[in-house]
Amino acid sequence: MTANILLVEDEPAIQELLALNVTQCGYRAIQALDAASAMAHISRALPDLILLDWMLPGSSGVELARRLRADQRTRNIPIIMLTARSDERDKIMGLESGADDYITKPFSPRELMARIRAVLRRRAPQMSEETVALGGLELSPATHRVGARGKVVDLGPTEFRLLHFFMTHAERVYGRSQLLDQVWGDHVFVEERTVDVHIRRLRQALEPSGLDSLIQTVRGSGYRFSCDSK
Ligand code: CA
Repeated sequence: MTANILLVEDEPAIQELLALNVTQCGYRAIQALDAASAMAHISRALPDLILLDWMLPGSSGVELARRLRADQRTRNIPIIMLTARSDERDKIMGLESGADDYITKPFSPRELMARIRAVLRRRAPQMSEETVALGGLELSPATHRVGARGKVVDLGPTEFRLLHFFMTHAERVYGRSQLLDQVWGDHVFVEERTVDVHIRRLRQALEPSGLDSLIQTVRGSGYRFSCDSK
């Protein structure tokens, strides 16, 4: 699964350098030159991670990070703050504003990529390539295979992403618009009904193994992956 990384940086040369590095690592780069255009991107689709420059024209990176953390929809997007300041107090201020990590310019692309991978692993387990096993299901993102009680399950790409998200976020209830944000990356242009269609397909694929009951409907709220069959 390709992670979408939103790059918020006003200096064109650094913006291009970031985009180049991120793309070379197999991620998709979304570019924004200021906080306002970053917000416009985010309102359309949630990125999987934000690389956020501290010093931006208009609203600063710290302000943007605070704003994202205060909103329930954007609260969990991983943020890595980029800055020219290496002062310890600034570092603390950056982290207190809600950043997950902090990197000082000039940075080595290698270090930056290592930080991105680490933050994604920590904050967005469905972005990881690690095999997940739960409730009799085994899902391997690397080989794109799913096994149910040892038997191969054939899933379409969306059902695969949906199951991966559920298995890495078990026992929690997600509403349709949250699932659209997390699995489709888009809650604006995709209809909520779409979620129900893919849930139905996913259950159908799991039915022969009897594991379709892992995907539970929570009336009035949404869906949950649960190993507890109540
Ligand atoms: Ca800047």
